[in-house]
Amino acid sequence: MWTPLSKQDNLMNDVFKIMLDLEEPWKLVDIEHDPQEEAWHLFIDFERGALFPCPHCGTLCKAYDAEKKQWRHLDVWKWKTYIHARVPRTDCKKCNKITMISVKWSRPLSHFTLDFDAWAMRLMAEMPVNAAARELREHDTRMWRIFHHYVEQAMNELDLTSVRRIAIDETSSRRGHRYITLFVDVDTKTILFATEGKGKDTLARFKQHLLRKGVEPVQIQEICCDMSPSFIGGIKEHFPTVEITFDKFHVMKMVNDAVDEVRKTEQKEEPRLKRSKFLWLKNEAHLKAEQRETLQSLKDQNLKTGRAYRLKLAMQELWITPHVFADVYLREWLSWARRSQLEPMMDLAKTVKQHEEGILRWFHSRMTNGLLEGINGLVQASKRKARGYRNVHNLIAMVYMTANKNRLSALAAQRS
Ligand SMILES: [Zn+2]
Repeated sequence: MWTPLSKQDNLMNDVFKIMLDLEEPWKLVDIEHDPQEEAWHLFIDFERGALFPCPHCGTLCKAYDAEKKQWRHLDVWKWKTYIHARVPRTDCKKCNKITMISVKWSRPLSHFTLDFDAWAMRLMAEMPVNAAARELREHDTRMWRIFHHYVEQAMNELDLTSVRRIAIDETSSRRGHRYITLFVDVDTKTILFATEGKGKDTLARFKQHLLRKGVEPVQIQEICCDMSPSFIGGIKEHFPTVEITFDKFHVMKMVNDAVDEVRKTEQKEEPRLKRSKFLWLKNEAHLKAEQRETLQSLKDQNLKTGRAYRLKLAMQELWITPHVFADVYLREWLSWARRSQLEPMMDLAKTVKQHEEGILRWFHSRMTNGLLEGINGLVQASKRKARGYRNVHNLIAMVYMTANKNRLSALAAQRS
């Protein structure tokens, strides 16, 4: 049972009137409260004959008919508060259209007022969405809907007209084999786009996204990525004018993998190599004194792993070689690796040769996926905040929000 306020409650009525800040022709006409549900119900209405601007052309029209609606508003003393109103439709003679007018306090089709939206967004910026839903006593799918609306709006407003250089990387979306691929503007460190999967089609979707935003693919000049054939194939097909830089951290990881491969095979006959795995993989500068000593003595023995390790050190040197000598240096390295008689290093040489151009492109572009390391941390944080996120779209929206927080809030500040 909802109980109307008695006449003595005029003061209460005044309080609500002030809080609602209604504009003509809207008036607060009734207040009821529901002690069982701990809820306030505010009824607002307009007087017969009131005029409303047509949403298309602004011509003032009478209400043609009206539809009852309700919105959840900010709580009042911990009680939920609902606004009820008949929302008129105008029958504009000029446009010859019947249209529902938009109300100042809510987005079209929303069940919440704008003030409630803002409250929910503040909570969701600070805590996991399901925690915010509990706090607000709403189902989390409704909170996600609010979240999507505002994140989408902010992402739509990102200006892409000066985007030239992109880094691409995939990251796991949950344990197992689900991935999302991130497209990051290297110069502003903004995530421009994220999409499910890590295949060639992710590039097609990125291109579609750019086109929707009025950006032609030729505007993108440089892309940095790993040597995944799907990324390379996707770039060649959808961004044929782009220069590819292969991320040097991925290059070094492949070198490390090859060294480890040599060690694993050799270790079967060489007890000296037991427990030496990380000595060969880590940067020498990061080893403890005793580890460095062990490595020194192993290096001096005539081991295949030691030879592979020297090839690795030589590859590290590539990145500090003066630009003009880089291609000569890499060619030398390749012929050394080919003659090494170490299977994994010879295979590696083949891969490096195939990707030579993109590896050397680094000397022009200086691009790496280094910044994605930091962004990956934010993705993991997003997963925690989106706990129980139900689907990958929710996770992607949370990634946009978390990783682009500064950019998005700067946009919001410009608007207000
Ligand atoms: Zn009109």
